[in-house]
Amino acid sequence: MSQQPYDVLVVGSGVAGLTAALTADEHGASVLMLTKGHSVDSSSWHAQGGIAAAIGADDTADLHAVDTERAGRDLCRPSAVRALVEEGPERVRELIRLGVPFDPELSLEGGHSRRRVSSVNGAATGSAVTSVLWRRMASSDRIAMREATAVLALWVDEGRCLGVITPYGPIEARSTILAMGGAAALWARSTNPPGQIGDAVAIGVAAGVTVADMEFMQFHPTVLEGSRLLLTEALRGDGAILIDSRGERFVEELAPRDEVARAIVGKGRVFLDLRSIDRSRFPGLMEEIAKAGFDPAVEPIPVSPAAHYTIGGLVTDLVGRTNIDGLYAAGECAATGVHGANRLASNSLLECLVFGRRAALAALDEPQFPARLPTPAAAPPERAASPQLLEQVWREAGVIRDPASLASLAATADPVASLVARFALARAESRGVHYRIDAPVTDPAFEGHLVLRPGHDLVLERWT
Ligand SMILES: Cc1cc2nc3c(=O)[nH]c(=O)nc-3n(C[C@H](O)[C@H](O)[C@H](O)COP(=O)(O)OP(=O)(O)OC[C@H]3O[C@@H](n4cnc5c(N)ncnc54)[C@H](O)[C@@H]3O)c2cc1C
Repeated sequence: MSQQPYDVLVVGSGVAGLTAALTADEHGASVLMLTKGHSVDSSSWHAQGGIAAAIGADDTADLHAVDTERAGRDLCRPSAVRALVEEGPERVRELIRLGVPFDPELSLEGGHSRRRVSSVNGAATGSAVTSVLWRRMASSDRIAMREATAVLALWVDEGRCLGVITPYGPIEARSTILAMGGAAALWARSTNPPGQIGDAVAIGVAAGVTVADMEFMQFHPTVLEGSRLLLTEALRGDGAILIDSRGERFVEELAPRDEVARAIVGKGRVFLDLRSIDRSRFPGLMEEIAKAGFDPAVEPIPVSPAAHYTIGGLVTDLVGRTNIDGLYAAGECAATGVHGANRLASNSLLECLVFGRRAALAALDEPQFPARLPTPAAAPPERAASPQLLEQVWREAGVIRDPASLASLAATADPVASLVARFALARAESRGVHYRIDAPVTDPAFEGHLVLRPGHDLVLERWT
């Protein structure tokens, strides 16, 4: 096994990190992967419905692009969408070759005009894909892995990233790829594992990385009340309906997630009725629902929205490059602009596969280090989010937002919560997942991405 400096340091063991590590390994690079928890502490492991890619006979990359851009409300970066939809089918076929046991039928999810979602056992896609990638990684003697190693800071000198700082000391690498996932666990009601509180943005901003789109948190509409258990959109694709407490339908079930989430908030208590669908297609999920004390064969299941997917993050180009030399980001922690103002269902695992691979290929070209490295700064303490902060973020930056609450949240000490509020205050309109009760319509003047560069104010930019 190679010693420091590694060719590629990958932070995060979800699908973006695994894809980046395996791609670098295929090209002969020495790789170290760090992760703050254990292998299953990633959103990737918990992903359910599947991976969207135009592999059906009636589908094309163009149709997938149209659906992605429609969901993204005039804010998707067209070049990123093209990369996603054109490379997507090959990435899914690669997973098939690696042995991911996808179901024979493609699923339909909200916002998709075709059946194009590849799933495993209906809703066990994340664990199936992650397990296959893990097994492959374990068989490589060029990839080292350290679990339970939180990255506390980036090690940056004169505009170049030299590696990261952990509680056990600095780690050098010729290139560093952050694949640290999103920030949705910063909201009290969330589908994400508890560690997903936006560390990539916290350490990135501290080191001078440009961030964008932080106001766009996607809320998943159908999460079992009082839990993190997401009831996948594929259930609604198969005919499950949403009903209010009088048993009446109140929303088009496959409308974009933001519309469904707001309709649910407007209704108060609502239920997902699974009684008429073929529940045997979702064996693992039905088991989880039963464990929570519900029988979906006889009763509708109470659901409500929860913070789910972080659209914003560290700004990258189409190969994962940030504004700091040698530093890359991929997957949910990156802001490529591919999702615009609202992520189309099942586009995020695909994003991890496409952009995780692209980042690794670009990272291989980073130059060697100078012989002598400067001494890194001392390690800062590990960031933590108190239950009070999570409640405050849920209350003040939830599905429906108002300027007074956002101003209160902007004053919090937590860097990520405060950034979310600052971005959400600046976007004085409603678009996609961001809804302001004082400005409920979309304003063409805001057709762009809010971007924060170190030492500057927020600016609105159009990305091509
Ligand atoms: C319940 C659920 C269901 C979903 N279903 C789908 C679906 O069906 N289809 C779809 O496309 N998407 C789905 N998503 C979204 C998708 O799973 C995620 O967007 C995607 O998996 C993100 O992958 P990632 O590799 O970027 O990050 P993650 O998989 O979240 O991995 C992040 C990694 O970074 C590590 N990390 C974080 N902070 C630190 C730190 N400070 N130091 C070291 N390591 C750190 C974590 O431990 C973890 O290993 C779902 C998400 C959830 C939560």
